[in-house]
Amino acid sequence: MDAMRQRSLHQTAVEQFQRAADLVGIEDRYRAILSHPKNEVIVNFPVQMDDGTWRIFRGYRIQHNNVLGPYKGGLRFHPDVNLDEVKALAAWMTFKCALVGLPLGGAKGGVTIDPSEHSEAEMQRIVRRFTHALGTNIGPEHDIPAPDVGTNSQMMDWLMDTFANLSGPASRHLVKGVVTGKSVLCGGSVGREEATGQGVLYTLRHWCGETGQRLDQLSVAVQGFGNVGGHFSRLANEAGCRVVVVSDHTGTVSSEKGLDIDALWDWAQDHGGIAGFADSAYGIGAEDVLTDELFTTPVDVFVPAALENQITAARAHVLQCRLVLEAANGPTTPEGETILESRGIEVVPDVLANAGGVIVSYFEWLQNKSSRAWSAEDVDSRLRSILWQASDSIVATRAELGCTRREAAYAVALRRLQAVYDRRDIFP
Ligand code: NAD
Repeated sequence: MDAMRQRSLHQTAVEQFQRAADLVGIEDRYRAILSHPKNEVIVNFPVQMDDGTWRIFRGYRIQHNNVLGPYKGGLRFHPDVNLDEVKALAAWMTFKCALVGLPLGGAKGGVTIDPSEHSEAEMQRIVRRFTHALGTNIGPEHDIPAPDVGTNSQMMDWLMDTFANLSGPASRHLVKGVVTGKSVLCGGSVGREEATGQGVLYTLRHWCGETGQRLDQLSVAVQGFGNVGGHFSRLANEAGCRVVVVSDHTGTVSSEKGLDIDALWDWAQDHGGIAGFADSAYGIGAEDVLTDELFTTPVDVFVPAALENQITAARAHVLQCRLVLEAANGPTTPEGETILESRGIEVVPDVLANAGGVIVSYFEWLQNKSSRAWSAEDVDSRLRSILWQASDSIVATRAELGCTRREAAYAVALRRLQAVYDRRDIFP
């Protein structure tokens, strides 16, 4: 096991931005501010279970920085959610929003819970109680959550409804933008559901343009088949990529000729995971393989789309790909990254690759503010244009500084943050 896997994820996030801060000469006072979240909200809230018993759950909302705009970031429901993880995820949101030029800050939240252990009725009570416990720590002009691992549009609808009902009658409809990633019926944006996966694909297209590759000739391995990994796989498959191996928490399936991604997607929706697909009538040509094969199968692009710390030093040694496209947040350990670099494997960093989610969340927030609904074409073309500009700025900054893509991404973000701090200064 990586020795460094034991260290704090937040420390990793701080070290990542400090490296870029050295390159572009960020002032010490800004480094100090960005090394800590502004606010750490921890709530313990009671919820009644279906059998009549009560349980206490622990929830977090970490507000990292809001110099560019209201705090923004997802809510994760997972058994491993803890303060250190949420602090790291909140910091990455600040740099992501700054990199892609959104007028938003960074935050993240979550509840330490295994969603698979709860009925839909329990889950609704948990989301409503969590929202109530967060109270005025969130708000449409203050801090705007969204979905992340283990949460979905139904939960965002419950959150919005709870917040709206806690607001005065006159403002009930003004607060829809308290959360993004809602269903389209309840004020969500078309294109938000698949936005993160779509964004991952746009950054892959940009990389193809940069390096002279053809998208429809690439083979791909994907870890995680939820919102991000699932939609990315579907869209990449549609674009002509060959998705040859996919894993989730239930198993790993592979097909040298390319998996039938649409059939796998339907299977995973119906069965809660990909296990059983290869043995079913739908899994023609697919076979179950050991998890290790996800990392050792030769592919052009490896796409981590599950959780953090997946590409450890040991796995970085055995990966057989040209590009790691970080759809998940923080999937590569610092040691893993050093080994990828020494092996000449490129990395498109998380703060760019998965920014499509927060970009379309921003569009949803704008639509809620103006009570208008944009077309799918509008959403898609604006998403593409923002990611294209951000990718171009990374290429230019990389050439200027002679650094990695990740360092260049942080350099772009830090320059924006420093420029705003310079003008506003630090109050009081
Ligand atoms: P999700 O809950 O929809 O899916 C997570 C997937 O990871 C599931 O398929 C699960 O089975 C799989 N998984 C969990 N543990 C695994 C393991 N050990 N090995 C293989 N697979 C495993 O979550 P999501 O929304 O798709 O988020 C995935 C990643 O993308 C996270 O890092 C998240 O922070 C990031 N992200 C999500 C969004 C978004 O809009 N949802 C936006 C930006 C970044």
